[in-house]
Amino acid sequence: MMSLMFKNTPDLVVKPKNALEISKLMKYAVKNNIPIIPRGGGSWGLGGAVPTNGGILLDMGSLNEIIKVDKENLTITVEPGVSWKEVDDIVTSNDLFLGAYPSSAPGASVGGWINTGGIGIGSYKYGGVEQQIRSIEVVLPDGKIIRAGFEKVMSNSSGYNLRDLFVGSEGTLGIITKVTIKLHPAPEIIRPISFSFNDVGNFIKAISEITRARIMPWNITILDGNHLEYLRKIGMDAPEVEGLINVTFEGTRAVVNYEAKVLERIISKLDGEKMDDEFSEHEWSERYYELRSKAIGPTALVGEVFVPVKKLKEMFDGTNKVIKRMKIRAAIVGMISDRNTAVLMPYVLTDERKMVKSLATMAFIKKIGDLAFKFGGRPAGLGTFFSVNLKKLHGKGVETIFDIKTSIDPYDVMNPGKLTEGVTRFGVPIPALGFRSGMELMGVVKGILPKDK
Ligand SMILES: Cc1cc2nc3c(=O)[nH]c(=O)nc-3n(C[C@H](O)[C@H](O)[C@H](O)COP(=O)(O)OP(=O)(O)OC[C@H]3O[C@@H](n4cnc5c(N)ncnc54)[C@H](O)[C@@H]3O)c2cc1C
Repeated sequence: MMSLMFKNTPDLVVKPKNALEISKLMKYAVKNNIPIIPRGGGSWGLGGAVPTNGGILLDMGSLNEIIKVDKENLTITVEPGVSWKEVDDIVTSNDLFLGAYPSSAPGASVGGWINTGGIGIGSYKYGGVEQQIRSIEVVLPDGKIIRAGFEKVMSNSSGYNLRDLFVGSEGTLGIITKVTIKLHPAPEIIRPISFSFNDVGNFIKAISEITRARIMPWNITILDGNHLEYLRKIGMDAPEVEGLINVTFEGTRAVVNYEAKVLERIISKLDGEKMDDEFSEHEWSERYYELRSKAIGPTALVGEVFVPVKKLKEMFDGTNKVIKRMKIRAAIVGMISDRNTAVLMPYVLTDERKMVKSLATMAFIKKIGDLAFKFGGRPAGLGTFFSVNLKKLHGKGVETIFDIKTSIDPYDVMNPGKLTEGVTRFGVPIPALGFRSGMELMGVVKGILPKDK
C-alpha cells in the first residue's frame, strides 16, 4: 500500500564497520544528493527507518561492539547497533544496574532509542533515554565526527546542549556511532507486585494516587481489561478484571519493603486485589512482550500518546468511545513515566490483507492523538505521517527547528521525508489539512463497515 506513495525499498544497503567509513559515505551522499537512512532494530512504528524515496540504508546492526565497562566511573560504552537487552545483560553480569530501557529491549538498538527520544521500563525513577546517556559520537552530514556530551560527568551547564539535540532527532541530523551510558550500583532486590481491579474508576484512581504518594517505584505498567481478554484468547493466564497495575521496586530490601507496604495500603483502599508473587514475577518476565496479542490480529496498529495522569479517566473514556464508534477491536496498555505523565499505547487489532478495512482503521491512531492534545498531552513521535503535527506541537518554534535542520543538513540527505516534513516519492509533501481530513473520512468509513469480529 505504502509503495504507491513512497519508494520504501532502498537502492543500496550498507553495513558500516566504523565512523570513518560512515563519514566517507556521508560526503559521497551529499555530493551525489543521495538519501541516507539509518536503521537500528527497525522496531519503531512511525516509519523512521524506512526510506521514503530510496537511497542508501545504513544498517547500524553491524556496529555492535561493547567497547568498555567502566566500573570506576559507572558507565558502559557501546556501539549503537547493540540492543538494550544486550547492554542490560552485560551490565547486570558486572554487578551494575541500567536505570531504564525500552520494553522492546531485545530488538531495539541503543542508537534507535536515542533517536526516538524514548521512555521505557524504569523511566518513572530514572527518566527518559536522555537521562541514561552521558555522551555520544555523531557523524554529521558534512562528514565531521563529533563528540556531544561528556563521558564521565553530567552535560548540564550553560552552553548549548549539543548531545540533547540528537535525542529524538529520528536520524535526521546525523549518525550516532558510539554511546556512553550512565550506570548505577546493583540493587539488593528487584520486587514486582501486581494489582488487579474490577472497577475501571478505581483502577485509574489508584494510578493517580501512586504518583502522588512519597514512594518511588522503578516501573509502573498498566493494562486494560480488553488487553487481558486478548491475552486469554491466545491462551495466556490473564485475570478476568477491568485493569491490572504492575509495579516494580528496586533498591535496598528495607526501603523496598517499606514502599511496598505504602503501595498496598493505597491499593486496598481502592478495592484492588494484590496478586500472588508467582503471578507478579510472571508479569515482570513478560515486560518485553506487550504485543503478544498481535497474534489474533494478525496485524496490530499501535499508537503512542503522552497524557497528564489527572486526565487518564477522560483519555480512557474518549478512547473507548472511539473504539465503539469505529467498531474495532482495540486495547490500552501503557506506562507511567513520571509523576504527571502517562504514556499510553492503545493498539487496534486488524488484518492488513483486508486493504480497505485496515487502511480505514489507521484513523484510530490519529483520533487518539487528537484526544491526547485535547487533554493537555501529545502524540509521541513524528516519522513520516505525523510530521503534520510539528506545528501543532511547537508553534512558532517550528521555524527554529527548520533552521537547525537546514544548518546541519543543508542538502537534506539525512533521512529525508521525516520529522520536519513527510514527503512522498514524487517530492510532494503530505499536506497537514488533507491528511487530517483524509484520516477523519477513513474513520467514518470504518464506522460504516461491518464490525470487526
Ligand atoms: C513491542 C514493542 C514495545 C516497544 N516499547 C517501547 C518502549 O518501551 N519505549 C519506547 O520508547 N519505544 C518502544 N517501542 C518502539 C521502538 O522499539 C523504540 O523506539 C526503539 O528504541 C527503536 O529502536 P530501533 O533500534 O528499533 O530503531 P529503528 O526503528 O531502527 O529506528 C528508529 C529511528 O532512529 C533512527 N536511527 C536508528 N539508529 C540510528 C543511529 N545509530 N543514528 C542515527 N539515527 C538512527 C532511524 O533512522 C529511525 O528514525 C516499542 C516497540 C515495540 C514493537
